[in-house]
Amino acid sequence: MIVVMRSGCTEEHVQDVYSRLEDLGYLVTKIVGVEKSILAAVGGDEHIKIDALEQIRALDYVDDVMLITKSYKFVSREHKPESTVIDLGDGVTVGGNQICMMAGPCTIESEEQLFTTAKAVKAAGASVLRGGAYKPSTSPYSFQGMGIPALKLLKEASKQFGLKVITEVMDLRKIDLVSEYSDILQIGTRNMQNYDLLRELGKANKPVMLKRGMSAKYEEWLLAAEYIHSNGNEQIIFCERGVRTFETGTRNMLDLAAVPVMKGLSHLPIVIDPSQGTGKRELVAPMSLAAVACGADGLLIEVHPNPDHAVKDGSQSMTINQFEQMMPTLRSVASAIGRSF
Ligand code: PEP
Ligand code: MN
Repeated sequence: MIVVMRSGCTEEHVQDVYSRLEDLGYLVTKIVGVEKSILAAVGGDEHIKIDALEQIRALDYVDDVMLITKSYKFVSREHKPESTVIDLGDGVTVGGNQICMMAGPCTIESEEQLFTTAKAVKAAGASVLRGGAYKPSTSPYSFQGMGIPALKLLKEASKQFGLKVITEVMDLRKIDLVSEYSDILQIGTRNMQNYDLLRELGKANKPVMLKRGMSAKYEEWLLAAEYIHSNGNEQIIFCERGVRTFETGTRNMLDLAAVPVMKGLSHLPIVIDPSQGTGKRELVAPMSLAAVACGADGLLIEVHPNPDHAVKDGSQSMTINQFEQMMPTLRSVASAIGRSF
């Protein structure tokens, strides 16, 4: 880290910071300027660097402190230059040349609803079935999901139609249960900062899809992934689902720049969710095309056989027909950039 001392501080102040850094295990070099002194510290322990930075920054005689290395390590591209490919088995991957289509209802409502959707999205080219069994709802009075019966339906649909499964886990006590039924554990936007849950996911034996917190900066999102990775689970997929801004014309503001930004900063794959990202079904196809064009490794899309009667998120759920019509156009965009579905 680089410590910039305040102008006018004394030699004792500089020496104090010098000793603190040395005590923390840093190799320190002092640069004395006409107005300001600077201390360059290298080689400190990864585990103490953030706390040390804050402690030193809080000193009256310190002007600013900057990190030289990134605050996250394992998920960074500096740490692992080659892109991570997550293998879900049976030829389904996330992060390789193939773009992974994950589609299905927001919330599982019945066998008929799930199976009709699963059959249609599979035929149109999806390889992963989405569907909520446990729903994070803003209101405690709205539908919270069918729970275990929905997990069983997902497993059954997965077998019958040859699809992998993604579903949300909200509670660390349910990681093992959901892992029995799902190929990917979805962590919703509201739980990106649930650090106890993230730490437990580090011990899970399943890939994790980490949605971006609705007001999270890239660095906070990367650090959330670092929680999972540093606890032992390297199989992480980022999912951009829109962030909150001043705009009310769409449900969220879908940040497609997140794709090239996150790919530059991290080796992990990134998927786009244009359904939560826009809140409007007519915007899902154009944003999906754009997501593929800018390098997304997959899409997570809400599809419902009868969106006008959906229990949740009907306005952003595509009809089966709309989904079927979108797929050939998506394939053309993918092939234009040398990828496929
Ligand atoms: C969802 O995928 O249906 C969902 C609730 O997502 P998010 O956590 O992004 O709101
Ligand atoms: Mn939804």
